[in-house]
This record gives sequence, structure tokens and C-alpha cells, in this order.
Amino acid sequence: MFIFNSERQPSQVAYITSKSCIIADENYGCLASNIPALELMALYVAATMHDYDHPGRTNAFLVATNAPQAVLYNDRSVLENHHAASAWSLFLSLPEYNFLPCLDHVQFKQFRFLVIEAILATDLKKHFDYLAEFNAKVSDVNNQGIEWNNESDRLLVCQMCIKLADINGPAKARDLHLKWTEGIVNEFYEQGDEEASLGLPVSPFMDRHNPQLAKLQESFITHIVGPLCNSYDSAGLLPGQWIDEKEDNMENAEDYDVEELDSEYDEMEDIDTKLQKKSRQRIFCQLMYHLNENHKVWKKMIEEEELNKSEESKQSESTSLCNKDEIQVIEEADEEEEQH
Ligand SMILES: [Zn+2]
Repeated sequence: MFIFNSERQPSQVAYITSKSCIIADENYGCLASNIPALELMALYVAATMHDYDHPGRTNAFLVATNAPQAVLYNDRSVLENHHAASAWSLFLSLPEYNFLPCLDHVQFKQFRFLVIEAILATDLKKHFDYLAEFNAKVSDVNNQGIEWNNESDRLLVCQMCIKLADINGPAKARDLHLKWTEGIVNEFYEQGDEEASLGLPVSPFMDRHNPQLAKLQESFITHIVGPLCNSYDSAGLLPGQWIDEKEDNMENAEDYDVEELDSEYDEMEDIDTKLQKKSRQRIFCQLMYHLNENHKVWKKMIEEEELNKSEESKQSESTSLCNKDEIQVIEEADEEEEQH
């Protein structure tokens, strides 16, 4: 079911679509009902291919060292081009690898285009371009919001979706987030080692002798993952569950990034009688919850680190002050002795 009313705000339109999906499956987001099967399949295949044959080095490193892939792709989205091209050449290398023989020529062409577009969108160098384009679409009052019958709008949503899937480590439960963090910093440290051995300056956060884990994650959440999640969420696209505030007995419920059901929505709510009975309901989104929690933990860690540092410096300051005072006292005492 899809209701579109141009007078409504984009986020409200998205709620309606979210809502319609919850009827079908409580745990699922709203993408599946608004995106045709071919495009969804392309998104899944792109997700599978998107890091294929990753060398464990960043684009900047491959460019700085004139790696063959950097030369091949003219320093542009080197890794993403490599993932897409090498996965596609594997796919096309044997007829039996084609698991989509049912697609006709036009469909296959469209499918391949969408897969490539989605993989190339994972280059973080273009992060803010995608974010700005998406935000303008969903938050600008003069804009109509996401038009699901528009092919390029659907592609942009899919690109945002794969970007989020690619970097959603900080939106996972703490233990999983820590595992992924460990993986990425180990990769970073290996690159740092190689940079040092090549006489290149060691990239930020890649020096294993100067670990800055909390700072890395905190700034990654603040500047990259947070804004991406927020804008995807403000479009009502993050999977969530309606929860009844009265039944909600979780701690610090106000801290959760959840959306309150507005009265206007209540008025037109006539589909689900179960929802109608409950006066205050809101969407609980697990990804946003974990993101906020992880962000808090990293921020606290930085504060503690800084506190420790300033205490250490205070201590060394006070020791030196103390020494000075002691010397002064001794000198004064000497002078006094001399006067006597
Ligand atoms: Zn990735």
C-alpha cells in the first residue's frame, strides 16, 4: 500500500510507508515494498561484491604509492572501481556463474548498471555529496520528498542504504562494534607499518605506537555515521518497531532516538485498530539506540583520557612548583639565617 499526499511532510509520507510494512512484517524496513525486485536484487548483489578482493589499504595509500589499481583507475575511487570490476569479471568469467539467466538483455543491463552505481557509492570521498543530495530531497520543504515511482530517487535511496550498511559498525551492539573496530584498527596499523617502512608519513590513526581508538570512533560517529543515520532515519527509512510508551519500561527511554507519533497521523490512522487504541506510540530503532550508546561510551572514554592527561600534567606541574617552593623556602631560610 502506498499513500502519497504532496501536502504532507516527507517524513510523514515515510511513516505511512513504514507503517504499511509493519503490517506485513514487524521487523522489516519499508524498502522492500517500495523498490522493485530487480533493484533490490541489484542492491543485495552490490553488497556482496562491494569489498571483493580488498587489499586492506586505503585509496589514499594506493594513490600515494602508485599502486597498479590506482594507475588503472586514474586515482579515482580506486578501491570501489576495483571491487566492482574484479567481481564483475569473476561473475562473467563462466556462464555457470550467472545465477540470473532469467533476465533479458535490457533487464541485465539495468541490473549491472545498478550494481555498479551502488558499489561506487561506497567511496567515502563522495559521502557528503550523497548526504547533501538526499537531505535536500527529504528535508527541504520545497521538495516533494522521495518519489518512489522515480527511478533515480530509488537509486539514491539504495545508495544511501548500501553506504549505511557499509559503515554501520558503530550502530551495532557494543561487543560487535568492538570486534569491527578491532578489525579496522589492525588493518590501519598494518598500513601504518608499511607507510613507515616506505618512509612515508604515517596516516592519522594508523600509528600503532600512538593508539587513538576512542578519538577515531568518536569522530567517525560524529562526522560520518551519525549524520548518515540521522538523515536516513528522518526519511523514515530505518527499520524500527512501534512501541507503546506505557509498556516501555526500558531505562532512559527518553535517550532513545525515537519518533513520537503525531496527532495528525493519529487522525488518519484507520488501518490498524490495534494502533488506534493506543494513544502514545513511537518507533524504537535499534540502530539509532546502539549508535547513541556507543557514541556516549567513546565520548566518556575521551573525557577520561583527557582528565588523566591533565591530572598527570597538573601533578608534574605541582611537583615542579613544589620543588620551586621548597627551594624558595630553603633560600629564604638561608637569608633569615644570614640576617641573624
Ligand atoms: Zn565495505
